[in-house]
Amino acid sequence: MDNNKFVEVKNLRKVYDNGHEAIKNVSFSVKKGDLVCLLGPSGCGKTTILNILAGLLNPTEGDIIFNGKSVVKVAPKDRHIGYVFQNYALYPHMTVLQNVMFPLIVGANKKPKTEAKKIATKYMELTQITELADQKPGNLSGGQQQRVAIARALVQEPQILLMDEPLSNLDARLRLKIREEIRSLVKSVGITTLFVTHDQEEALSIGDKIILFNDGIIQQDDLGQNFYLEPNNYFVANFVGNPVIDNFKVTKTANELKSSQFTIDLADLEQSRFKREIPDGEYILSVRPENIVPDPDGLFGTTVDDIELIGRERILKFTFDNEQVRSLINLETPIKRGDQIKLKMRFNRVFLFTPEGERVY
Ligand code: ATP
Repeated sequence: MDNNKFVEVKNLRKVYDNGHEAIKNVSFSVKKGDLVCLLGPSGCGKTTILNILAGLLNPTEGDIIFNGKSVVKVAPKDRHIGYVFQNYALYPHMTVLQNVMFPLIVGANKKPKTEAKKIATKYMELTQITELADQKPGNLSGGQQQRVAIARALVQEPQILLMDEPLSNLDARLRLKIREEIRSLVKSVGITTLFVTHDQEEALSIGDKIILFNDGIIQQDDLGQNFYLEPNNYFVANFVGNPVIDNFKVTKTANELKSSQFTIDLADLEQSRFKREIPDGEYILSVRPENIVPDPDGLFGTTVDDIELIGRERILKFTFDNEQVRSLINLETPIKRGDQIKLKMRFNRVFLFTPEGERVY
């Protein structure tokens, strides 16, 4: 058994009955005990993948392997999976304790009531809902219902936990708190977890690694930091990062990258960062706002249109080719709205993409 491939998805493809190809040849693996985030915009196929893993949907092609064994033909109940749905799907007429015990007292492997209660109590303690045992779900807050759903998913001590946007019904502050709790809970239980979200900050904060999807295809499968530092392509660079990355249209000639307002000498770029020889033509130069900073000897001048305060940093906003671009600076830098400033880029931190989105620098 290979613990690095506790969950393996191989050449997965899903075409729905209406002909829509939601998943296009997706392969990835998950290490035992890891919490992996499946990230991507709405409709990219995240839920489809969870449903195929859980056995609620059949794949059109490809294989799903848990712990070295293909499970494509294994019934959902025999896959040892816990699933926390976006809307929690609690039973409204049952108490919290009855909800959490439920998976243990139904089906072929049902346990005696006293044993079921003992196990349920353990997971209610872990999820801090013991004192809610006699309440009905309708009387609970979103965060409390979430914990009940997690406890209910864990009672059967599944090998794999699937969570589909589990925080989307919570307010912003509670989301931050519960996501920390979920991470510490799954780590203490040691359960291999796939967590679906469309929120890149959530994914970066809780994932051991992140798999970013778009349009049914994996865009990058990597550690969180690499989505910032080494994005695979234009989509990744623009999906991850807050404030979002700045993009500048440039034309490459033999010696230069030329935009409407600045010219970069190709000799000033780090030659080793070019991924291949690139022909002259149109490209997109992208730079994260923290790497385009005010400097008296900057590359080009501009006027500060607006300033937004975010915690202990500020975003300077300016216009370039009729688009808004941003520079991220600290609070102390004395710049105000309307100021004329010059900006420089950290050339070892910029990216260059073809118009099709392929990264070439
Ligand atoms: P969201 O974050 O909005 O839930 P998602 O990334 O989870 O999105 P999926 O629900 O997996 O995306 O859907 C992927 C694509 O497949 C979407 O374009 C969706 O419209 C389509 N789709 C989902 N279910 C079906 C279905 N039963 N029949 C046809 N198309 C479907």
